Amino acid sequence: MHYTGTIWRPPYEADSLLLEVTAGCTHHRCKFCTLYSDLPFKFRMSPMEDIESDLLEVQVLRYNPTSMMTAKLQGLPRPKPIKRVFLTGANPFVLTTGKLLEIAALIRKYLPSVETIGCFARITDSVNKTDEDLILLRQAGYDGLTIGVETGDDTALSFMQKGYTSQDILTQCKRLEQAKIEYGFFYLTSISGKGKGETGAKASADVFNQLHPFLIGPNMLTIYPESKLYQEIQNGNWEEESEIEKYRELRTLVENLNISTYFAAMGASNAFQLRGRLPEDKEQLLETLDRIIYEVREEDLRHYRKNLPHL
Ligand code: SF4
Repeated sequence: MHYTGTIWRPPYEADSLLLEVTAGCTHHRCKFCTLYSDLPFKFRMSPMEDIESDLLEVQVLRYNPTSMMTAKLQGLPRPKPIKRVFLTGANPFVLTTGKLLEIAALIRKYLPSVETIGCFARITDSVNKTDEDLILLRQAGYDGLTIGVETGDDTALSFMQKGYTSQDILTQCKRLEQAKIEYGFFYLTSISGKGKGETGAKASADVFNQLHPFLIGPNMLTIYPESKLYQEIQNGNWEEESEIEKYRELRTLVENLNISTYFAAMGASNAFQLRGRLPEDKEQLLETLDRIIYEVREEDLRHYRKNLPHL
């Protein structure tokens, strides 16, 4: 299989086949981001021959009679059919509709059991697609996109150079909804900065409450020295929230969300993993957050963050 650099995927895509169709990010400007800094280029689409040869490799390994017999002789269980493919890279959804349909057709050709195709997407990826394009993509299997919107706070979006506004989030996500393409949000706790987290959380809840993400998954800002944000801090232009403030911000977010969604703080950036359905589990989530805020020491949370080698 062709895999380039560190491969990132949401925790809930653990059972999906990871197929490299892009590497890197077309935007590559967010001040806090170091996710694709190990690549020698900004963004690249994989050659179609590489995508096809990876699909062929999976087909042979999974479904070839010799492979099945070898697995049986080794006492291994019969492999389950692959139901979902997750395209790798920061925003493969930016590819043209024609390219995405071509990739979906290749996936169907080699792995007909696949029902849906997911990937990370930027809010701006759908701007150059028509409503008809989005419907075609849904029909081809694209569904369950993961969008790192980070926040609905326009000041923070602008400072961090995310490249879109809260109004863009609303416009583009409503278009996805019209095409019946489901999506989940990653939220970045602390993106608004010291003293502004709760305001940012309220602004985000206001935006999210107008939409229908299947998930809101907070990650916690962890600043690495190679990021532009680190330089901004050194230059006195931005201050990070304390760790306890980050949990106050999360509490405000949960408190102000009034949509039906799954709330899940997963991944290494969260010292505490929190999961629950909203609104059903809201009280329980708030109680857990209160316990963290009042019972866990700032130094211990800080120690956890300082010792995170990578996200
Ligand atoms: S869009 Fe995502 S991957 Fe690209 S620079 Fe921003 S945070 Fe990083």
